[in-house]
Amino acid sequence: MTKERILILGAGLSGLSAAWHLQRLNKECLVFEKEAECGGLCRSKTMSGFTFDYCGHLLHFRSAYALDLIRNLFQENLIEHKKSAWVYSYNRFTRYPFQANLFGLPRPVIKECLSGFIDAQRNLPHKAKHGFSFLEWMHLTFGKGIARHFMVPYNQKFWTVDCKELTCDWFGGFIPRPTLKEIISGALRENKKVFGYNAAFWYPKQGGIQEVSKAFSAKVKHLYLGYEAESLDFKKREVSFKNGRRYRYDALILTLPLPEIAALGKNLPSGVRGALKNLKYNSIFNLNLGISGNGTPDKHWVYFPEKKFVFFRAGFPKNFSASLAPPGASSVYAEVSYSGEKPLDKKRIGGKIINGLKHAKVIKPKDKILIQDSNDIKYGYIIYDRLRAPSLKSINGYLRKQRVFPLGRYGAWSYKSMEDCLLDGKQIAESFA
Ligand SMILES: Cc1cc2nc3c(=O)[nH]c(=O)nc-3n(C[C@H](O)[C@H](O)[C@H](O)COP(=O)(O)OP(=O)(O)OC[C@H]3O[C@@H](n4cnc5c(N)ncnc54)[C@H](O)[C@@H]3O)c2cc1C
Repeated sequence: MTKERILILGAGLSGLSAAWHLQRLNKECLVFEKEAECGGLCRSKTMSGFTFDYCGHLLHFRSAYALDLIRNLFQENLIEHKKSAWVYSYNRFTRYPFQANLFGLPRPVIKECLSGFIDAQRNLPHKAKHGFSFLEWMHLTFGKGIARHFMVPYNQKFWTVDCKELTCDWFGGFIPRPTLKEIISGALRENKKVFGYNAAFWYPKQGGIQEVSKAFSAKVKHLYLGYEAESLDFKKREVSFKNGRRYRYDALILTLPLPEIAALGKNLPSGVRGALKNLKYNSIFNLNLGISGNGTPDKHWVYFPEKKFVFFRAGFPKNFSASLAPPGASSVYAEVSYSGEKPLDKKRIGGKIINGLKHAKVIKPKDKILIQDSNDIKYGYIIYDRLRAPSLKSINGYLRKQRVFPLGRYGAWSYKSMEDCLLDGKQIAESFA
C-alpha cells in the first residue's frame, strides 16, 4: 500500500496538534507555515523585559486529556490560577459575572436587575422555544435590567454587530446562568463564588503563552517555515507557495482562515464562492503597555461594557506570571473590536485606550508608560449570524469531496479555544489512523 501524503497548512496550535498526533500514530505529514515562526495566535513578544501575548491567552481545560497533555509537555513550568475577573461600570469594579455580582452597584441598578430577572423567570416556559436571536435570548434569560446594564452593551461592543443578527449557536456553556437564589445572594453581599467552566486557568510559569506552541513545534518533524500558500489546486491536489515551491497531496488539512480560500482556491464552484463571502468576523486591535509600579495586582482581567471606553476588556499579564514584566514594573493589555460595521480609527485608538485606562485608574497618575506595543488581529471572533451555518455546510461539503479538511478556529470557522484546537488536532489525526 502506498503512503497517503498529508499536508497541513498553518502551524498555529491546530496545525501543530494535528501534526504531533499524526506523528504519534506513525503517520507522516508536512506542515507549512507562512511566518518565520510557529504558533499563530499562540505567540508572544518579548521587549525590554516585558512579554506580551496576542491579548490575553489563558489555558482553560474541560478535558482531562488536554490538561494531561499540557502538563506532560510543560513538566514544572505551569501555574494554576483561580480566576479573578471583574466588570468596570458606574465608576466602580464589581466581580464577574455581572449577573451574579450586583453587590456594590448603585441601588436603582440593582433593583432594576433583580426585578427584571424575576419577571424573566416568570416567563420561563417561553425559553423552551428555539431559534431566538442572541438579543432575545439575553432579555428572556436575564431580564431587562441585566440586559440593559451589562449583557447588551458589552456584547454589542464586543461583536460589533447588532445582537439581533446573532444566533445562540456559539456560547454553549460560556455564559454563566446563576439561579435566582445566587443572584439575590450576589446582590446582598460580595460573592466570591467563581462561576463558569473557566473558574481556574493555567499559564506558563516562565515565558508567555508561546511556550505552548514551542513545546509542540519542538517535537514536530517536517515543519517548513516561511512557506505561504498562494494557490490551491483542488483538482490536481496541489499547493503552490509564494517561494515557488509546489507540493502535491492526498489529503490537505487547512487551518488558515476559511475566507482566504476564495482567493487561493482555483476553479471554486460559484456556490462555494458565494458561501465564502457570507462568512463574517470581527477584528481585534490590541494595545500592550509596560508601566512602572505594581499595576492592578488583585485582578486578572476586567470587562468594560460602557460606550465611553473604546476597549471591551483589559488584563494584567504580570498577574498570570511574574516573569512577564521586570521587577518593579507591570503591564496591561487592552482589546478593541472592530469590523466593517464598526470601523476603527487606527491613528487615534492608542490615545483613546490610554485615556480610558487612566479614567478607570488602571493606569494611576504616578505610573509611567515605559513601553507600548500593538497587535492588529484581522481575524478575531467568528460572527455567528444566520448565514454562517448554511454557508459552512456548503463550503465543507465541497472541500471534503476534494480531500480537504478545514481545522481549527479559522479553518472550522467556529468559536474555539486553544484547548479545542488541541483536541480537534487529535481528532483529525485519529480520523487518518
Ligand atoms: C483576541 C483573542 C484572544 C484569545 N484568547 C484566548 C484565551 O484566552 N484562551 C484560549 O484558549 N483561546 C483564546 N483565543 C483563541 C486561540 O487563540 C485560538 O483558538 C487558537 O490559537 C487558534 O489556533 P489555530 O491554529 O486554529 O489558528 P491560528 O493561530 O490562526 O493559526 C493559523 C496559522 O496559519 C498560518 N497561515 C495563514 N495563512 C497562511 C498561508 N497562506 N500559508 C501558510 N500558513 C498560513 C498563520 O500564520 C497561523 O500560524 C483567543 C483568540 C483571540 C483572537
